[in-house]
Amino acid sequence: AKAHVVVVGGGAGGATAARYIAKDSKGEVAVTLIEPTRTYYTCFFSNLYIGGFKNIDDIGHSYGTLAAGGVNVVHDWAVGVDRAAKTVSLAGGGSMSYDKLILSPGIDFVEGAVEGWDISAQNAMPHAYKAGSQSELLKAQLMAMPQGGTFAMVAPPNPYRCPPGPYERVSMVAHYLKANNPTAKIIVADPKPKFSKMALFQEGWADNYDGMIDWVGSDFGGDVVSVDPGAMTVSIDGEVTKVDVCNVIPAMKAGRIAELAGVTEGNWAPVNAADMSTKADPDVYVLGDASQQGDMPKSGFSANSQAKVCANAVRGALTGSKVFPARFSNTCWSLIDTNNGVKVGATYEATDEKIAKVDGFISATGESAEVRKATYEESEGWYSGITADMFG
Ligand code: FAD
Repeated sequence: AKAHVVVVGGGAGGATAARYIAKDSKGEVAVTLIEPTRTYYTCFFSNLYIGGFKNIDDIGHSYGTLAAGGVNVVHDWAVGVDRAAKTVSLAGGGSMSYDKLILSPGIDFVEGAVEGWDISAQNAMPHAYKAGSQSELLKAQLMAMPQGGTFAMVAPPNPYRCPPGPYERVSMVAHYLKANNPTAKIIVADPKPKFSKMALFQEGWADNYDGMIDWVGSDFGGDVVSVDPGAMTVSIDGEVTKVDVCNVIPAMKAGRIAELAGVTEGNWAPVNAADMSTKADPDVYVLGDASQQGDMPKSGFSANSQAKVCANAVRGALTGSKVFPARFSNTCWSLIDTNNGVKVGATYEATDEKIAKVDGFISATGESAEVRKATYEESEGWYSGITADMFG
């Protein structure tokens, strides 16, 4: 029988890996992708949807082209992995055997991370950190804010998916409020003393949204937070504020199936940089946010880059095809205001120890409007490119 690769999770890591193995092995390897949703909404550009720059349909993608490209797409949840028997069990019943298993389940939230919040409160206080209905809910709440109301965000501790994501979101919320609700306020309680592209965001906030955004870092009590979803209050360092919208982004860990497979240590799954195989099992690979790989940020770009390295290695292991040395790259773009894009990025290589940064770049403060517009346009090109790379 043909070798069988099972991929769990059809996001930035999993969809890319499934597509590349099916495409490059030209039918020599059977590939199954297990993903519960029929439409995958990208978290990337979901902030632009909240800011009014995209429609929800612009960020939704289906799996039909992957299926037509030879990937067996199964819409179900993987609920267990038996590594001795090399099988994956499905919520809908039955199980599937594999020669190689690739897990790219993204993130789940650490329970009890924000006092007063749990997943049952996500309708009153959305996270919008898995895109789709949560993004639509947060946007609806933003649009329903009374004039002069308060939008609060509880930002997450490191490490989490998309380091600039919360701050791009603050920018997009401010962009919406500036046009529609100019006396409204934004408060951010942050458990960290600093954040990704901080100088660029703070410059952009001062230039475009003067006085609207109050960022409270851990040096100022931003790490002493609790919420009350029933009363719609946020307590920051003992000071209780009544708010109209509260976006709680809790601490994160690897998607639960990685834990169930027994390949995590603490919150994440340690992997070997050369091929993304787990330290726990050479036939189980973990990609993207769920992996603990070294220097790369948890991003869609990173997950896609890791997936190509993994697909090449898995195909090599199963068919004897040539395996190229692992090279990785990442860029995280953020939109601060209309045509005002900034970016940070790096290239990486595999060492015995980890994915190690080779060199990097970041936008400068004080750049011209032309440069910022070109950076934003680059991000549009990246979005079309990565979604075509994932879904065909
Ligand atoms: P995901 O893409 O989340 O895919 C995981 C998939 O696994 C999901 O579809 C899920 O349904 C499925 N799944 C989970 N458990 C199971 C199971 N048990 N069985 C079957 N399927 C399962 N990245 C960028 O590069 N650029 C950006 O501009 C950017 N902006 C962002 C903005 C926001 C607001 C957020 C939240 C994130 C952003 N990111 C961005 C980060 C990016 O979305 C993630 O890093 C990326 O999606 C990670 O890919 P992944 O494959 O690890 O997980």
